[in-house]
Amino acid sequence: MRLHWHRRDLRAADNAGLARASADDPVVPAFVFDTAVLDHAAPPRVAFMLDALDGLRSWYRDRGSDLVVARGDPREVLPELAAEYGADVVTWGKDYSGLARERDADVRQALDAADVAREAVQDAVLHEPGEITTNDGDPYSVFTYFGRKWSEREKDAPYDAPEREALADVEGDALPTLDELGFDEPEADVPPAGTDRARDLLDSFLEDDVYRYEERRDYPADDCTSRLSAHLKFGTIGIREVYEGTAEARSATEPGSDRDSSVEEFQSQLAWREFYAQVLFANPNVVTENYKEYETEIRWNTDERGLRAWKDGETGYPIVDAGMRQLREEAFVHNRLRMIVASFLTKDLLVDWREGYDWFREKLVDHDTGNDNGGWQWAASTGTDAQPYFRVFNPMTQGERYDPDAEYIKRYVPELRDAGAEIIHNWHEASPTQRENAAPDYPEPIVDHSQRREEAIEMFERARD
Ligand code: FAD
Repeated sequence: MRLHWHRRDLRAADNAGLARASADDPVVPAFVFDTAVLDHAAPPRVAFMLDALDGLRSWYRDRGSDLVVARGDPREVLPELAAEYGADVVTWGKDYSGLARERDADVRQALDAADVAREAVQDAVLHEPGEITTNDGDPYSVFTYFGRKWSEREKDAPYDAPEREALADVEGDALPTLDELGFDEPEADVPPAGTDRARDLLDSFLEDDVYRYEERRDYPADDCTSRLSAHLKFGTIGIREVYEGTAEARSATEPGSDRDSSVEEFQSQLAWREFYAQVLFANPNVVTENYKEYETEIRWNTDERGLRAWKDGETGYPIVDAGMRQLREEAFVHNRLRMIVASFLTKDLLVDWREGYDWFREKLVDHDTGNDNGGWQWAASTGTDAQPYFRVFNPMTQGERYDPDAEYIKRYVPELRDAGAEIIHNWHEASPTQRENAAPDYPEPIVDHSQRREEAIEMFERARD
């Protein structure tokens, strides 16, 4: 008998670890509510995860098996479960963050001590950290070269879900509720989880949006991205299955055509995810430290009022506020907006990226250590392949270019619904009377962008090596 420990792979299909576990022996599927992991979790993600677990449990139950659920420290729980179900091997899908690796090393030791074999399997990525390196064997710090090698490599095909007879006849306990796990209801509307939902999203994306992705992905009102991020984070869909779908979509296009290059652009985002996974693997300390070293420490601003306004979407910069309110309402933010709001926090408010990262970690349903940290450090000019410090996003031009009719802004900032796009994009220059007439309840800008831009550049120049 084998035990498969589900972690960030809350699915049965295209699950490399589960496929391995069920190849020769019946498998007992298990999930452990790890108290240490829950300490770092937040309501939207726990809600999404519980929904995903519910779907997974139903999948097993429909086949006469069940998901065994336990709570506690996996170092103690897994040897106990192995003993209880007579499993002599425990399998799991590898996780690449520093904390996960430390935990897994401890679990390995505990299983060794209990005389239970274990096998960690590559599952969450198409190419794992260490596979794509520079010619000297070092991890990449620039995406372009990594991305090129990533796209040239052969990819594994999806794994089949285990057959019914490969599943052990077990009965699991009920799943805990959010409240029982110690979490409040999320403030946001958390999207539904589960493999069926992930497949629906993928299918509808591949039908149409993928072919306009390259042209329209930066326009938030279009909403033409896949929305797969939380599913990829929790593994409700396998990465090989997603990639295979994109390869099929590409094969239906003329090589070199706009449609072909649009699907390729989407594939390249999947490569970014793996780029950041290898950055995190090679530099686990980036979670709290700048990736790029500066000669003098950057002297970030302490601005409680600004930080509060940023979190509340009350900065008086319409595009920034729309992004921050989308985060609160949906536990999700469009990628262009993540870049804009991150730039605003770090380059207009001059607040440390770690404050923003913490807020995203609390609010995002798709928070992924590698991607979130990579995104923040990119925007703050402290990361790999970073935005140069002297390139500061201008929130007005960003709004004008990517949301010309202010459609996205109006969706999330109701105070501006009756205002015209022109005044919205020029809010900082409007007179008090114009503001009063257009949107009396919307705040005036909390900072002067041009002045802050200069200050940001000076701040980086002081710290620069
Ligand atoms: P799509 O455009 O459909 O892309 C498909 C998938 O590719 C995504 O689901 C994601 O897995 C991956 N991807 C896309 N863009 C990126 C990127 N720039 N970097 C790495 N992977 C990418 N992504 C997260 O998954 N979790 C995070 O916590 C996260 N935090 C971010 C924070 C900041 C400050 C920034 C600038 C970006 C962050 N991203 C994060 C990357 C990106 O914004 C999201 O992956 C994307 O918006 C999710 O929407 P989607 O699934 O519709 O993306």
